[in-house]
Amino acid sequence: MVVDQAFVNKDLEINFQQRKIAVKWFNSFEEITHYLSSEIPMDASIGIGNSQTLKKMKILEAFLTKGNVVYDKTIGKTHEEVKSLKRKALLTDYYISSANAISEDGRIINIDHSGNRVAAMHYGPEKVFLIIGKNKIESTYVEALKRARNIAAPLNAKRARMNPPCVKVGKCVDCLSQERVCNFISIIEGQHVEGRLTVLIANEEAGF
Ligand code: SF4
Repeated sequence: MVVDQAFVNKDLEINFQQRKIAVKWFNSFEEITHYLSSEIPMDASIGIGNSQTLKKMKILEAFLTKGNVVYDKTIGKTHEEVKSLKRKALLTDYYISSANAISEDGRIINIDHSGNRVAAMHYGPEKVFLIIGKNKIESTYVEALKRARNIAAPLNAKRARMNPPCVKVGKCVDCLSQERVCNFISIIEGQHVEGRLTVLIANEEAGF
């Protein structure tokens, strides 16, 4: 499928390439699912980072149907199962997740509660795919960080039925709540291994 060129941001792509991070553009999330299905072999193990975007895409179901071994914490029925799935996802062939924001200068920003998702992005899985909608692109790293703290974190907290102050006031107040959701703030500045991390961007909106 030919991608709408008006959507492709070449400057962003070059800025990521200079940091050894690849960027690919797609018209839709459905196209991304097809792309991943063709890229990831059936005998590969896959870790999945919990994400509203991936849920909407039904990525877990797609790869379970294909026959891959998939480690996704949302399959776990007990605390111990969830913990085990999170740990196993750290040493997979592929890791698929979303990100809270990217900046046009080539950075990837994430906020994480327990840290498993950002840990896998940083090191462990051989290849990492991060899927985002166009709503998560910000002009600068400062704006991307603001997005992660003031939009993504409160909405994620609400979704997880946690109640730090940002759920009520709608923005980050840099709390020390026992229910703080942003114990880890990650900024991926680049990659040591070229070809390990690819950002897949859909010309649609999803997630937060
Ligand atoms: S530090 Fe607290 S208030 Fe700020 S985003 Fe995180 S949980 Fe919400």
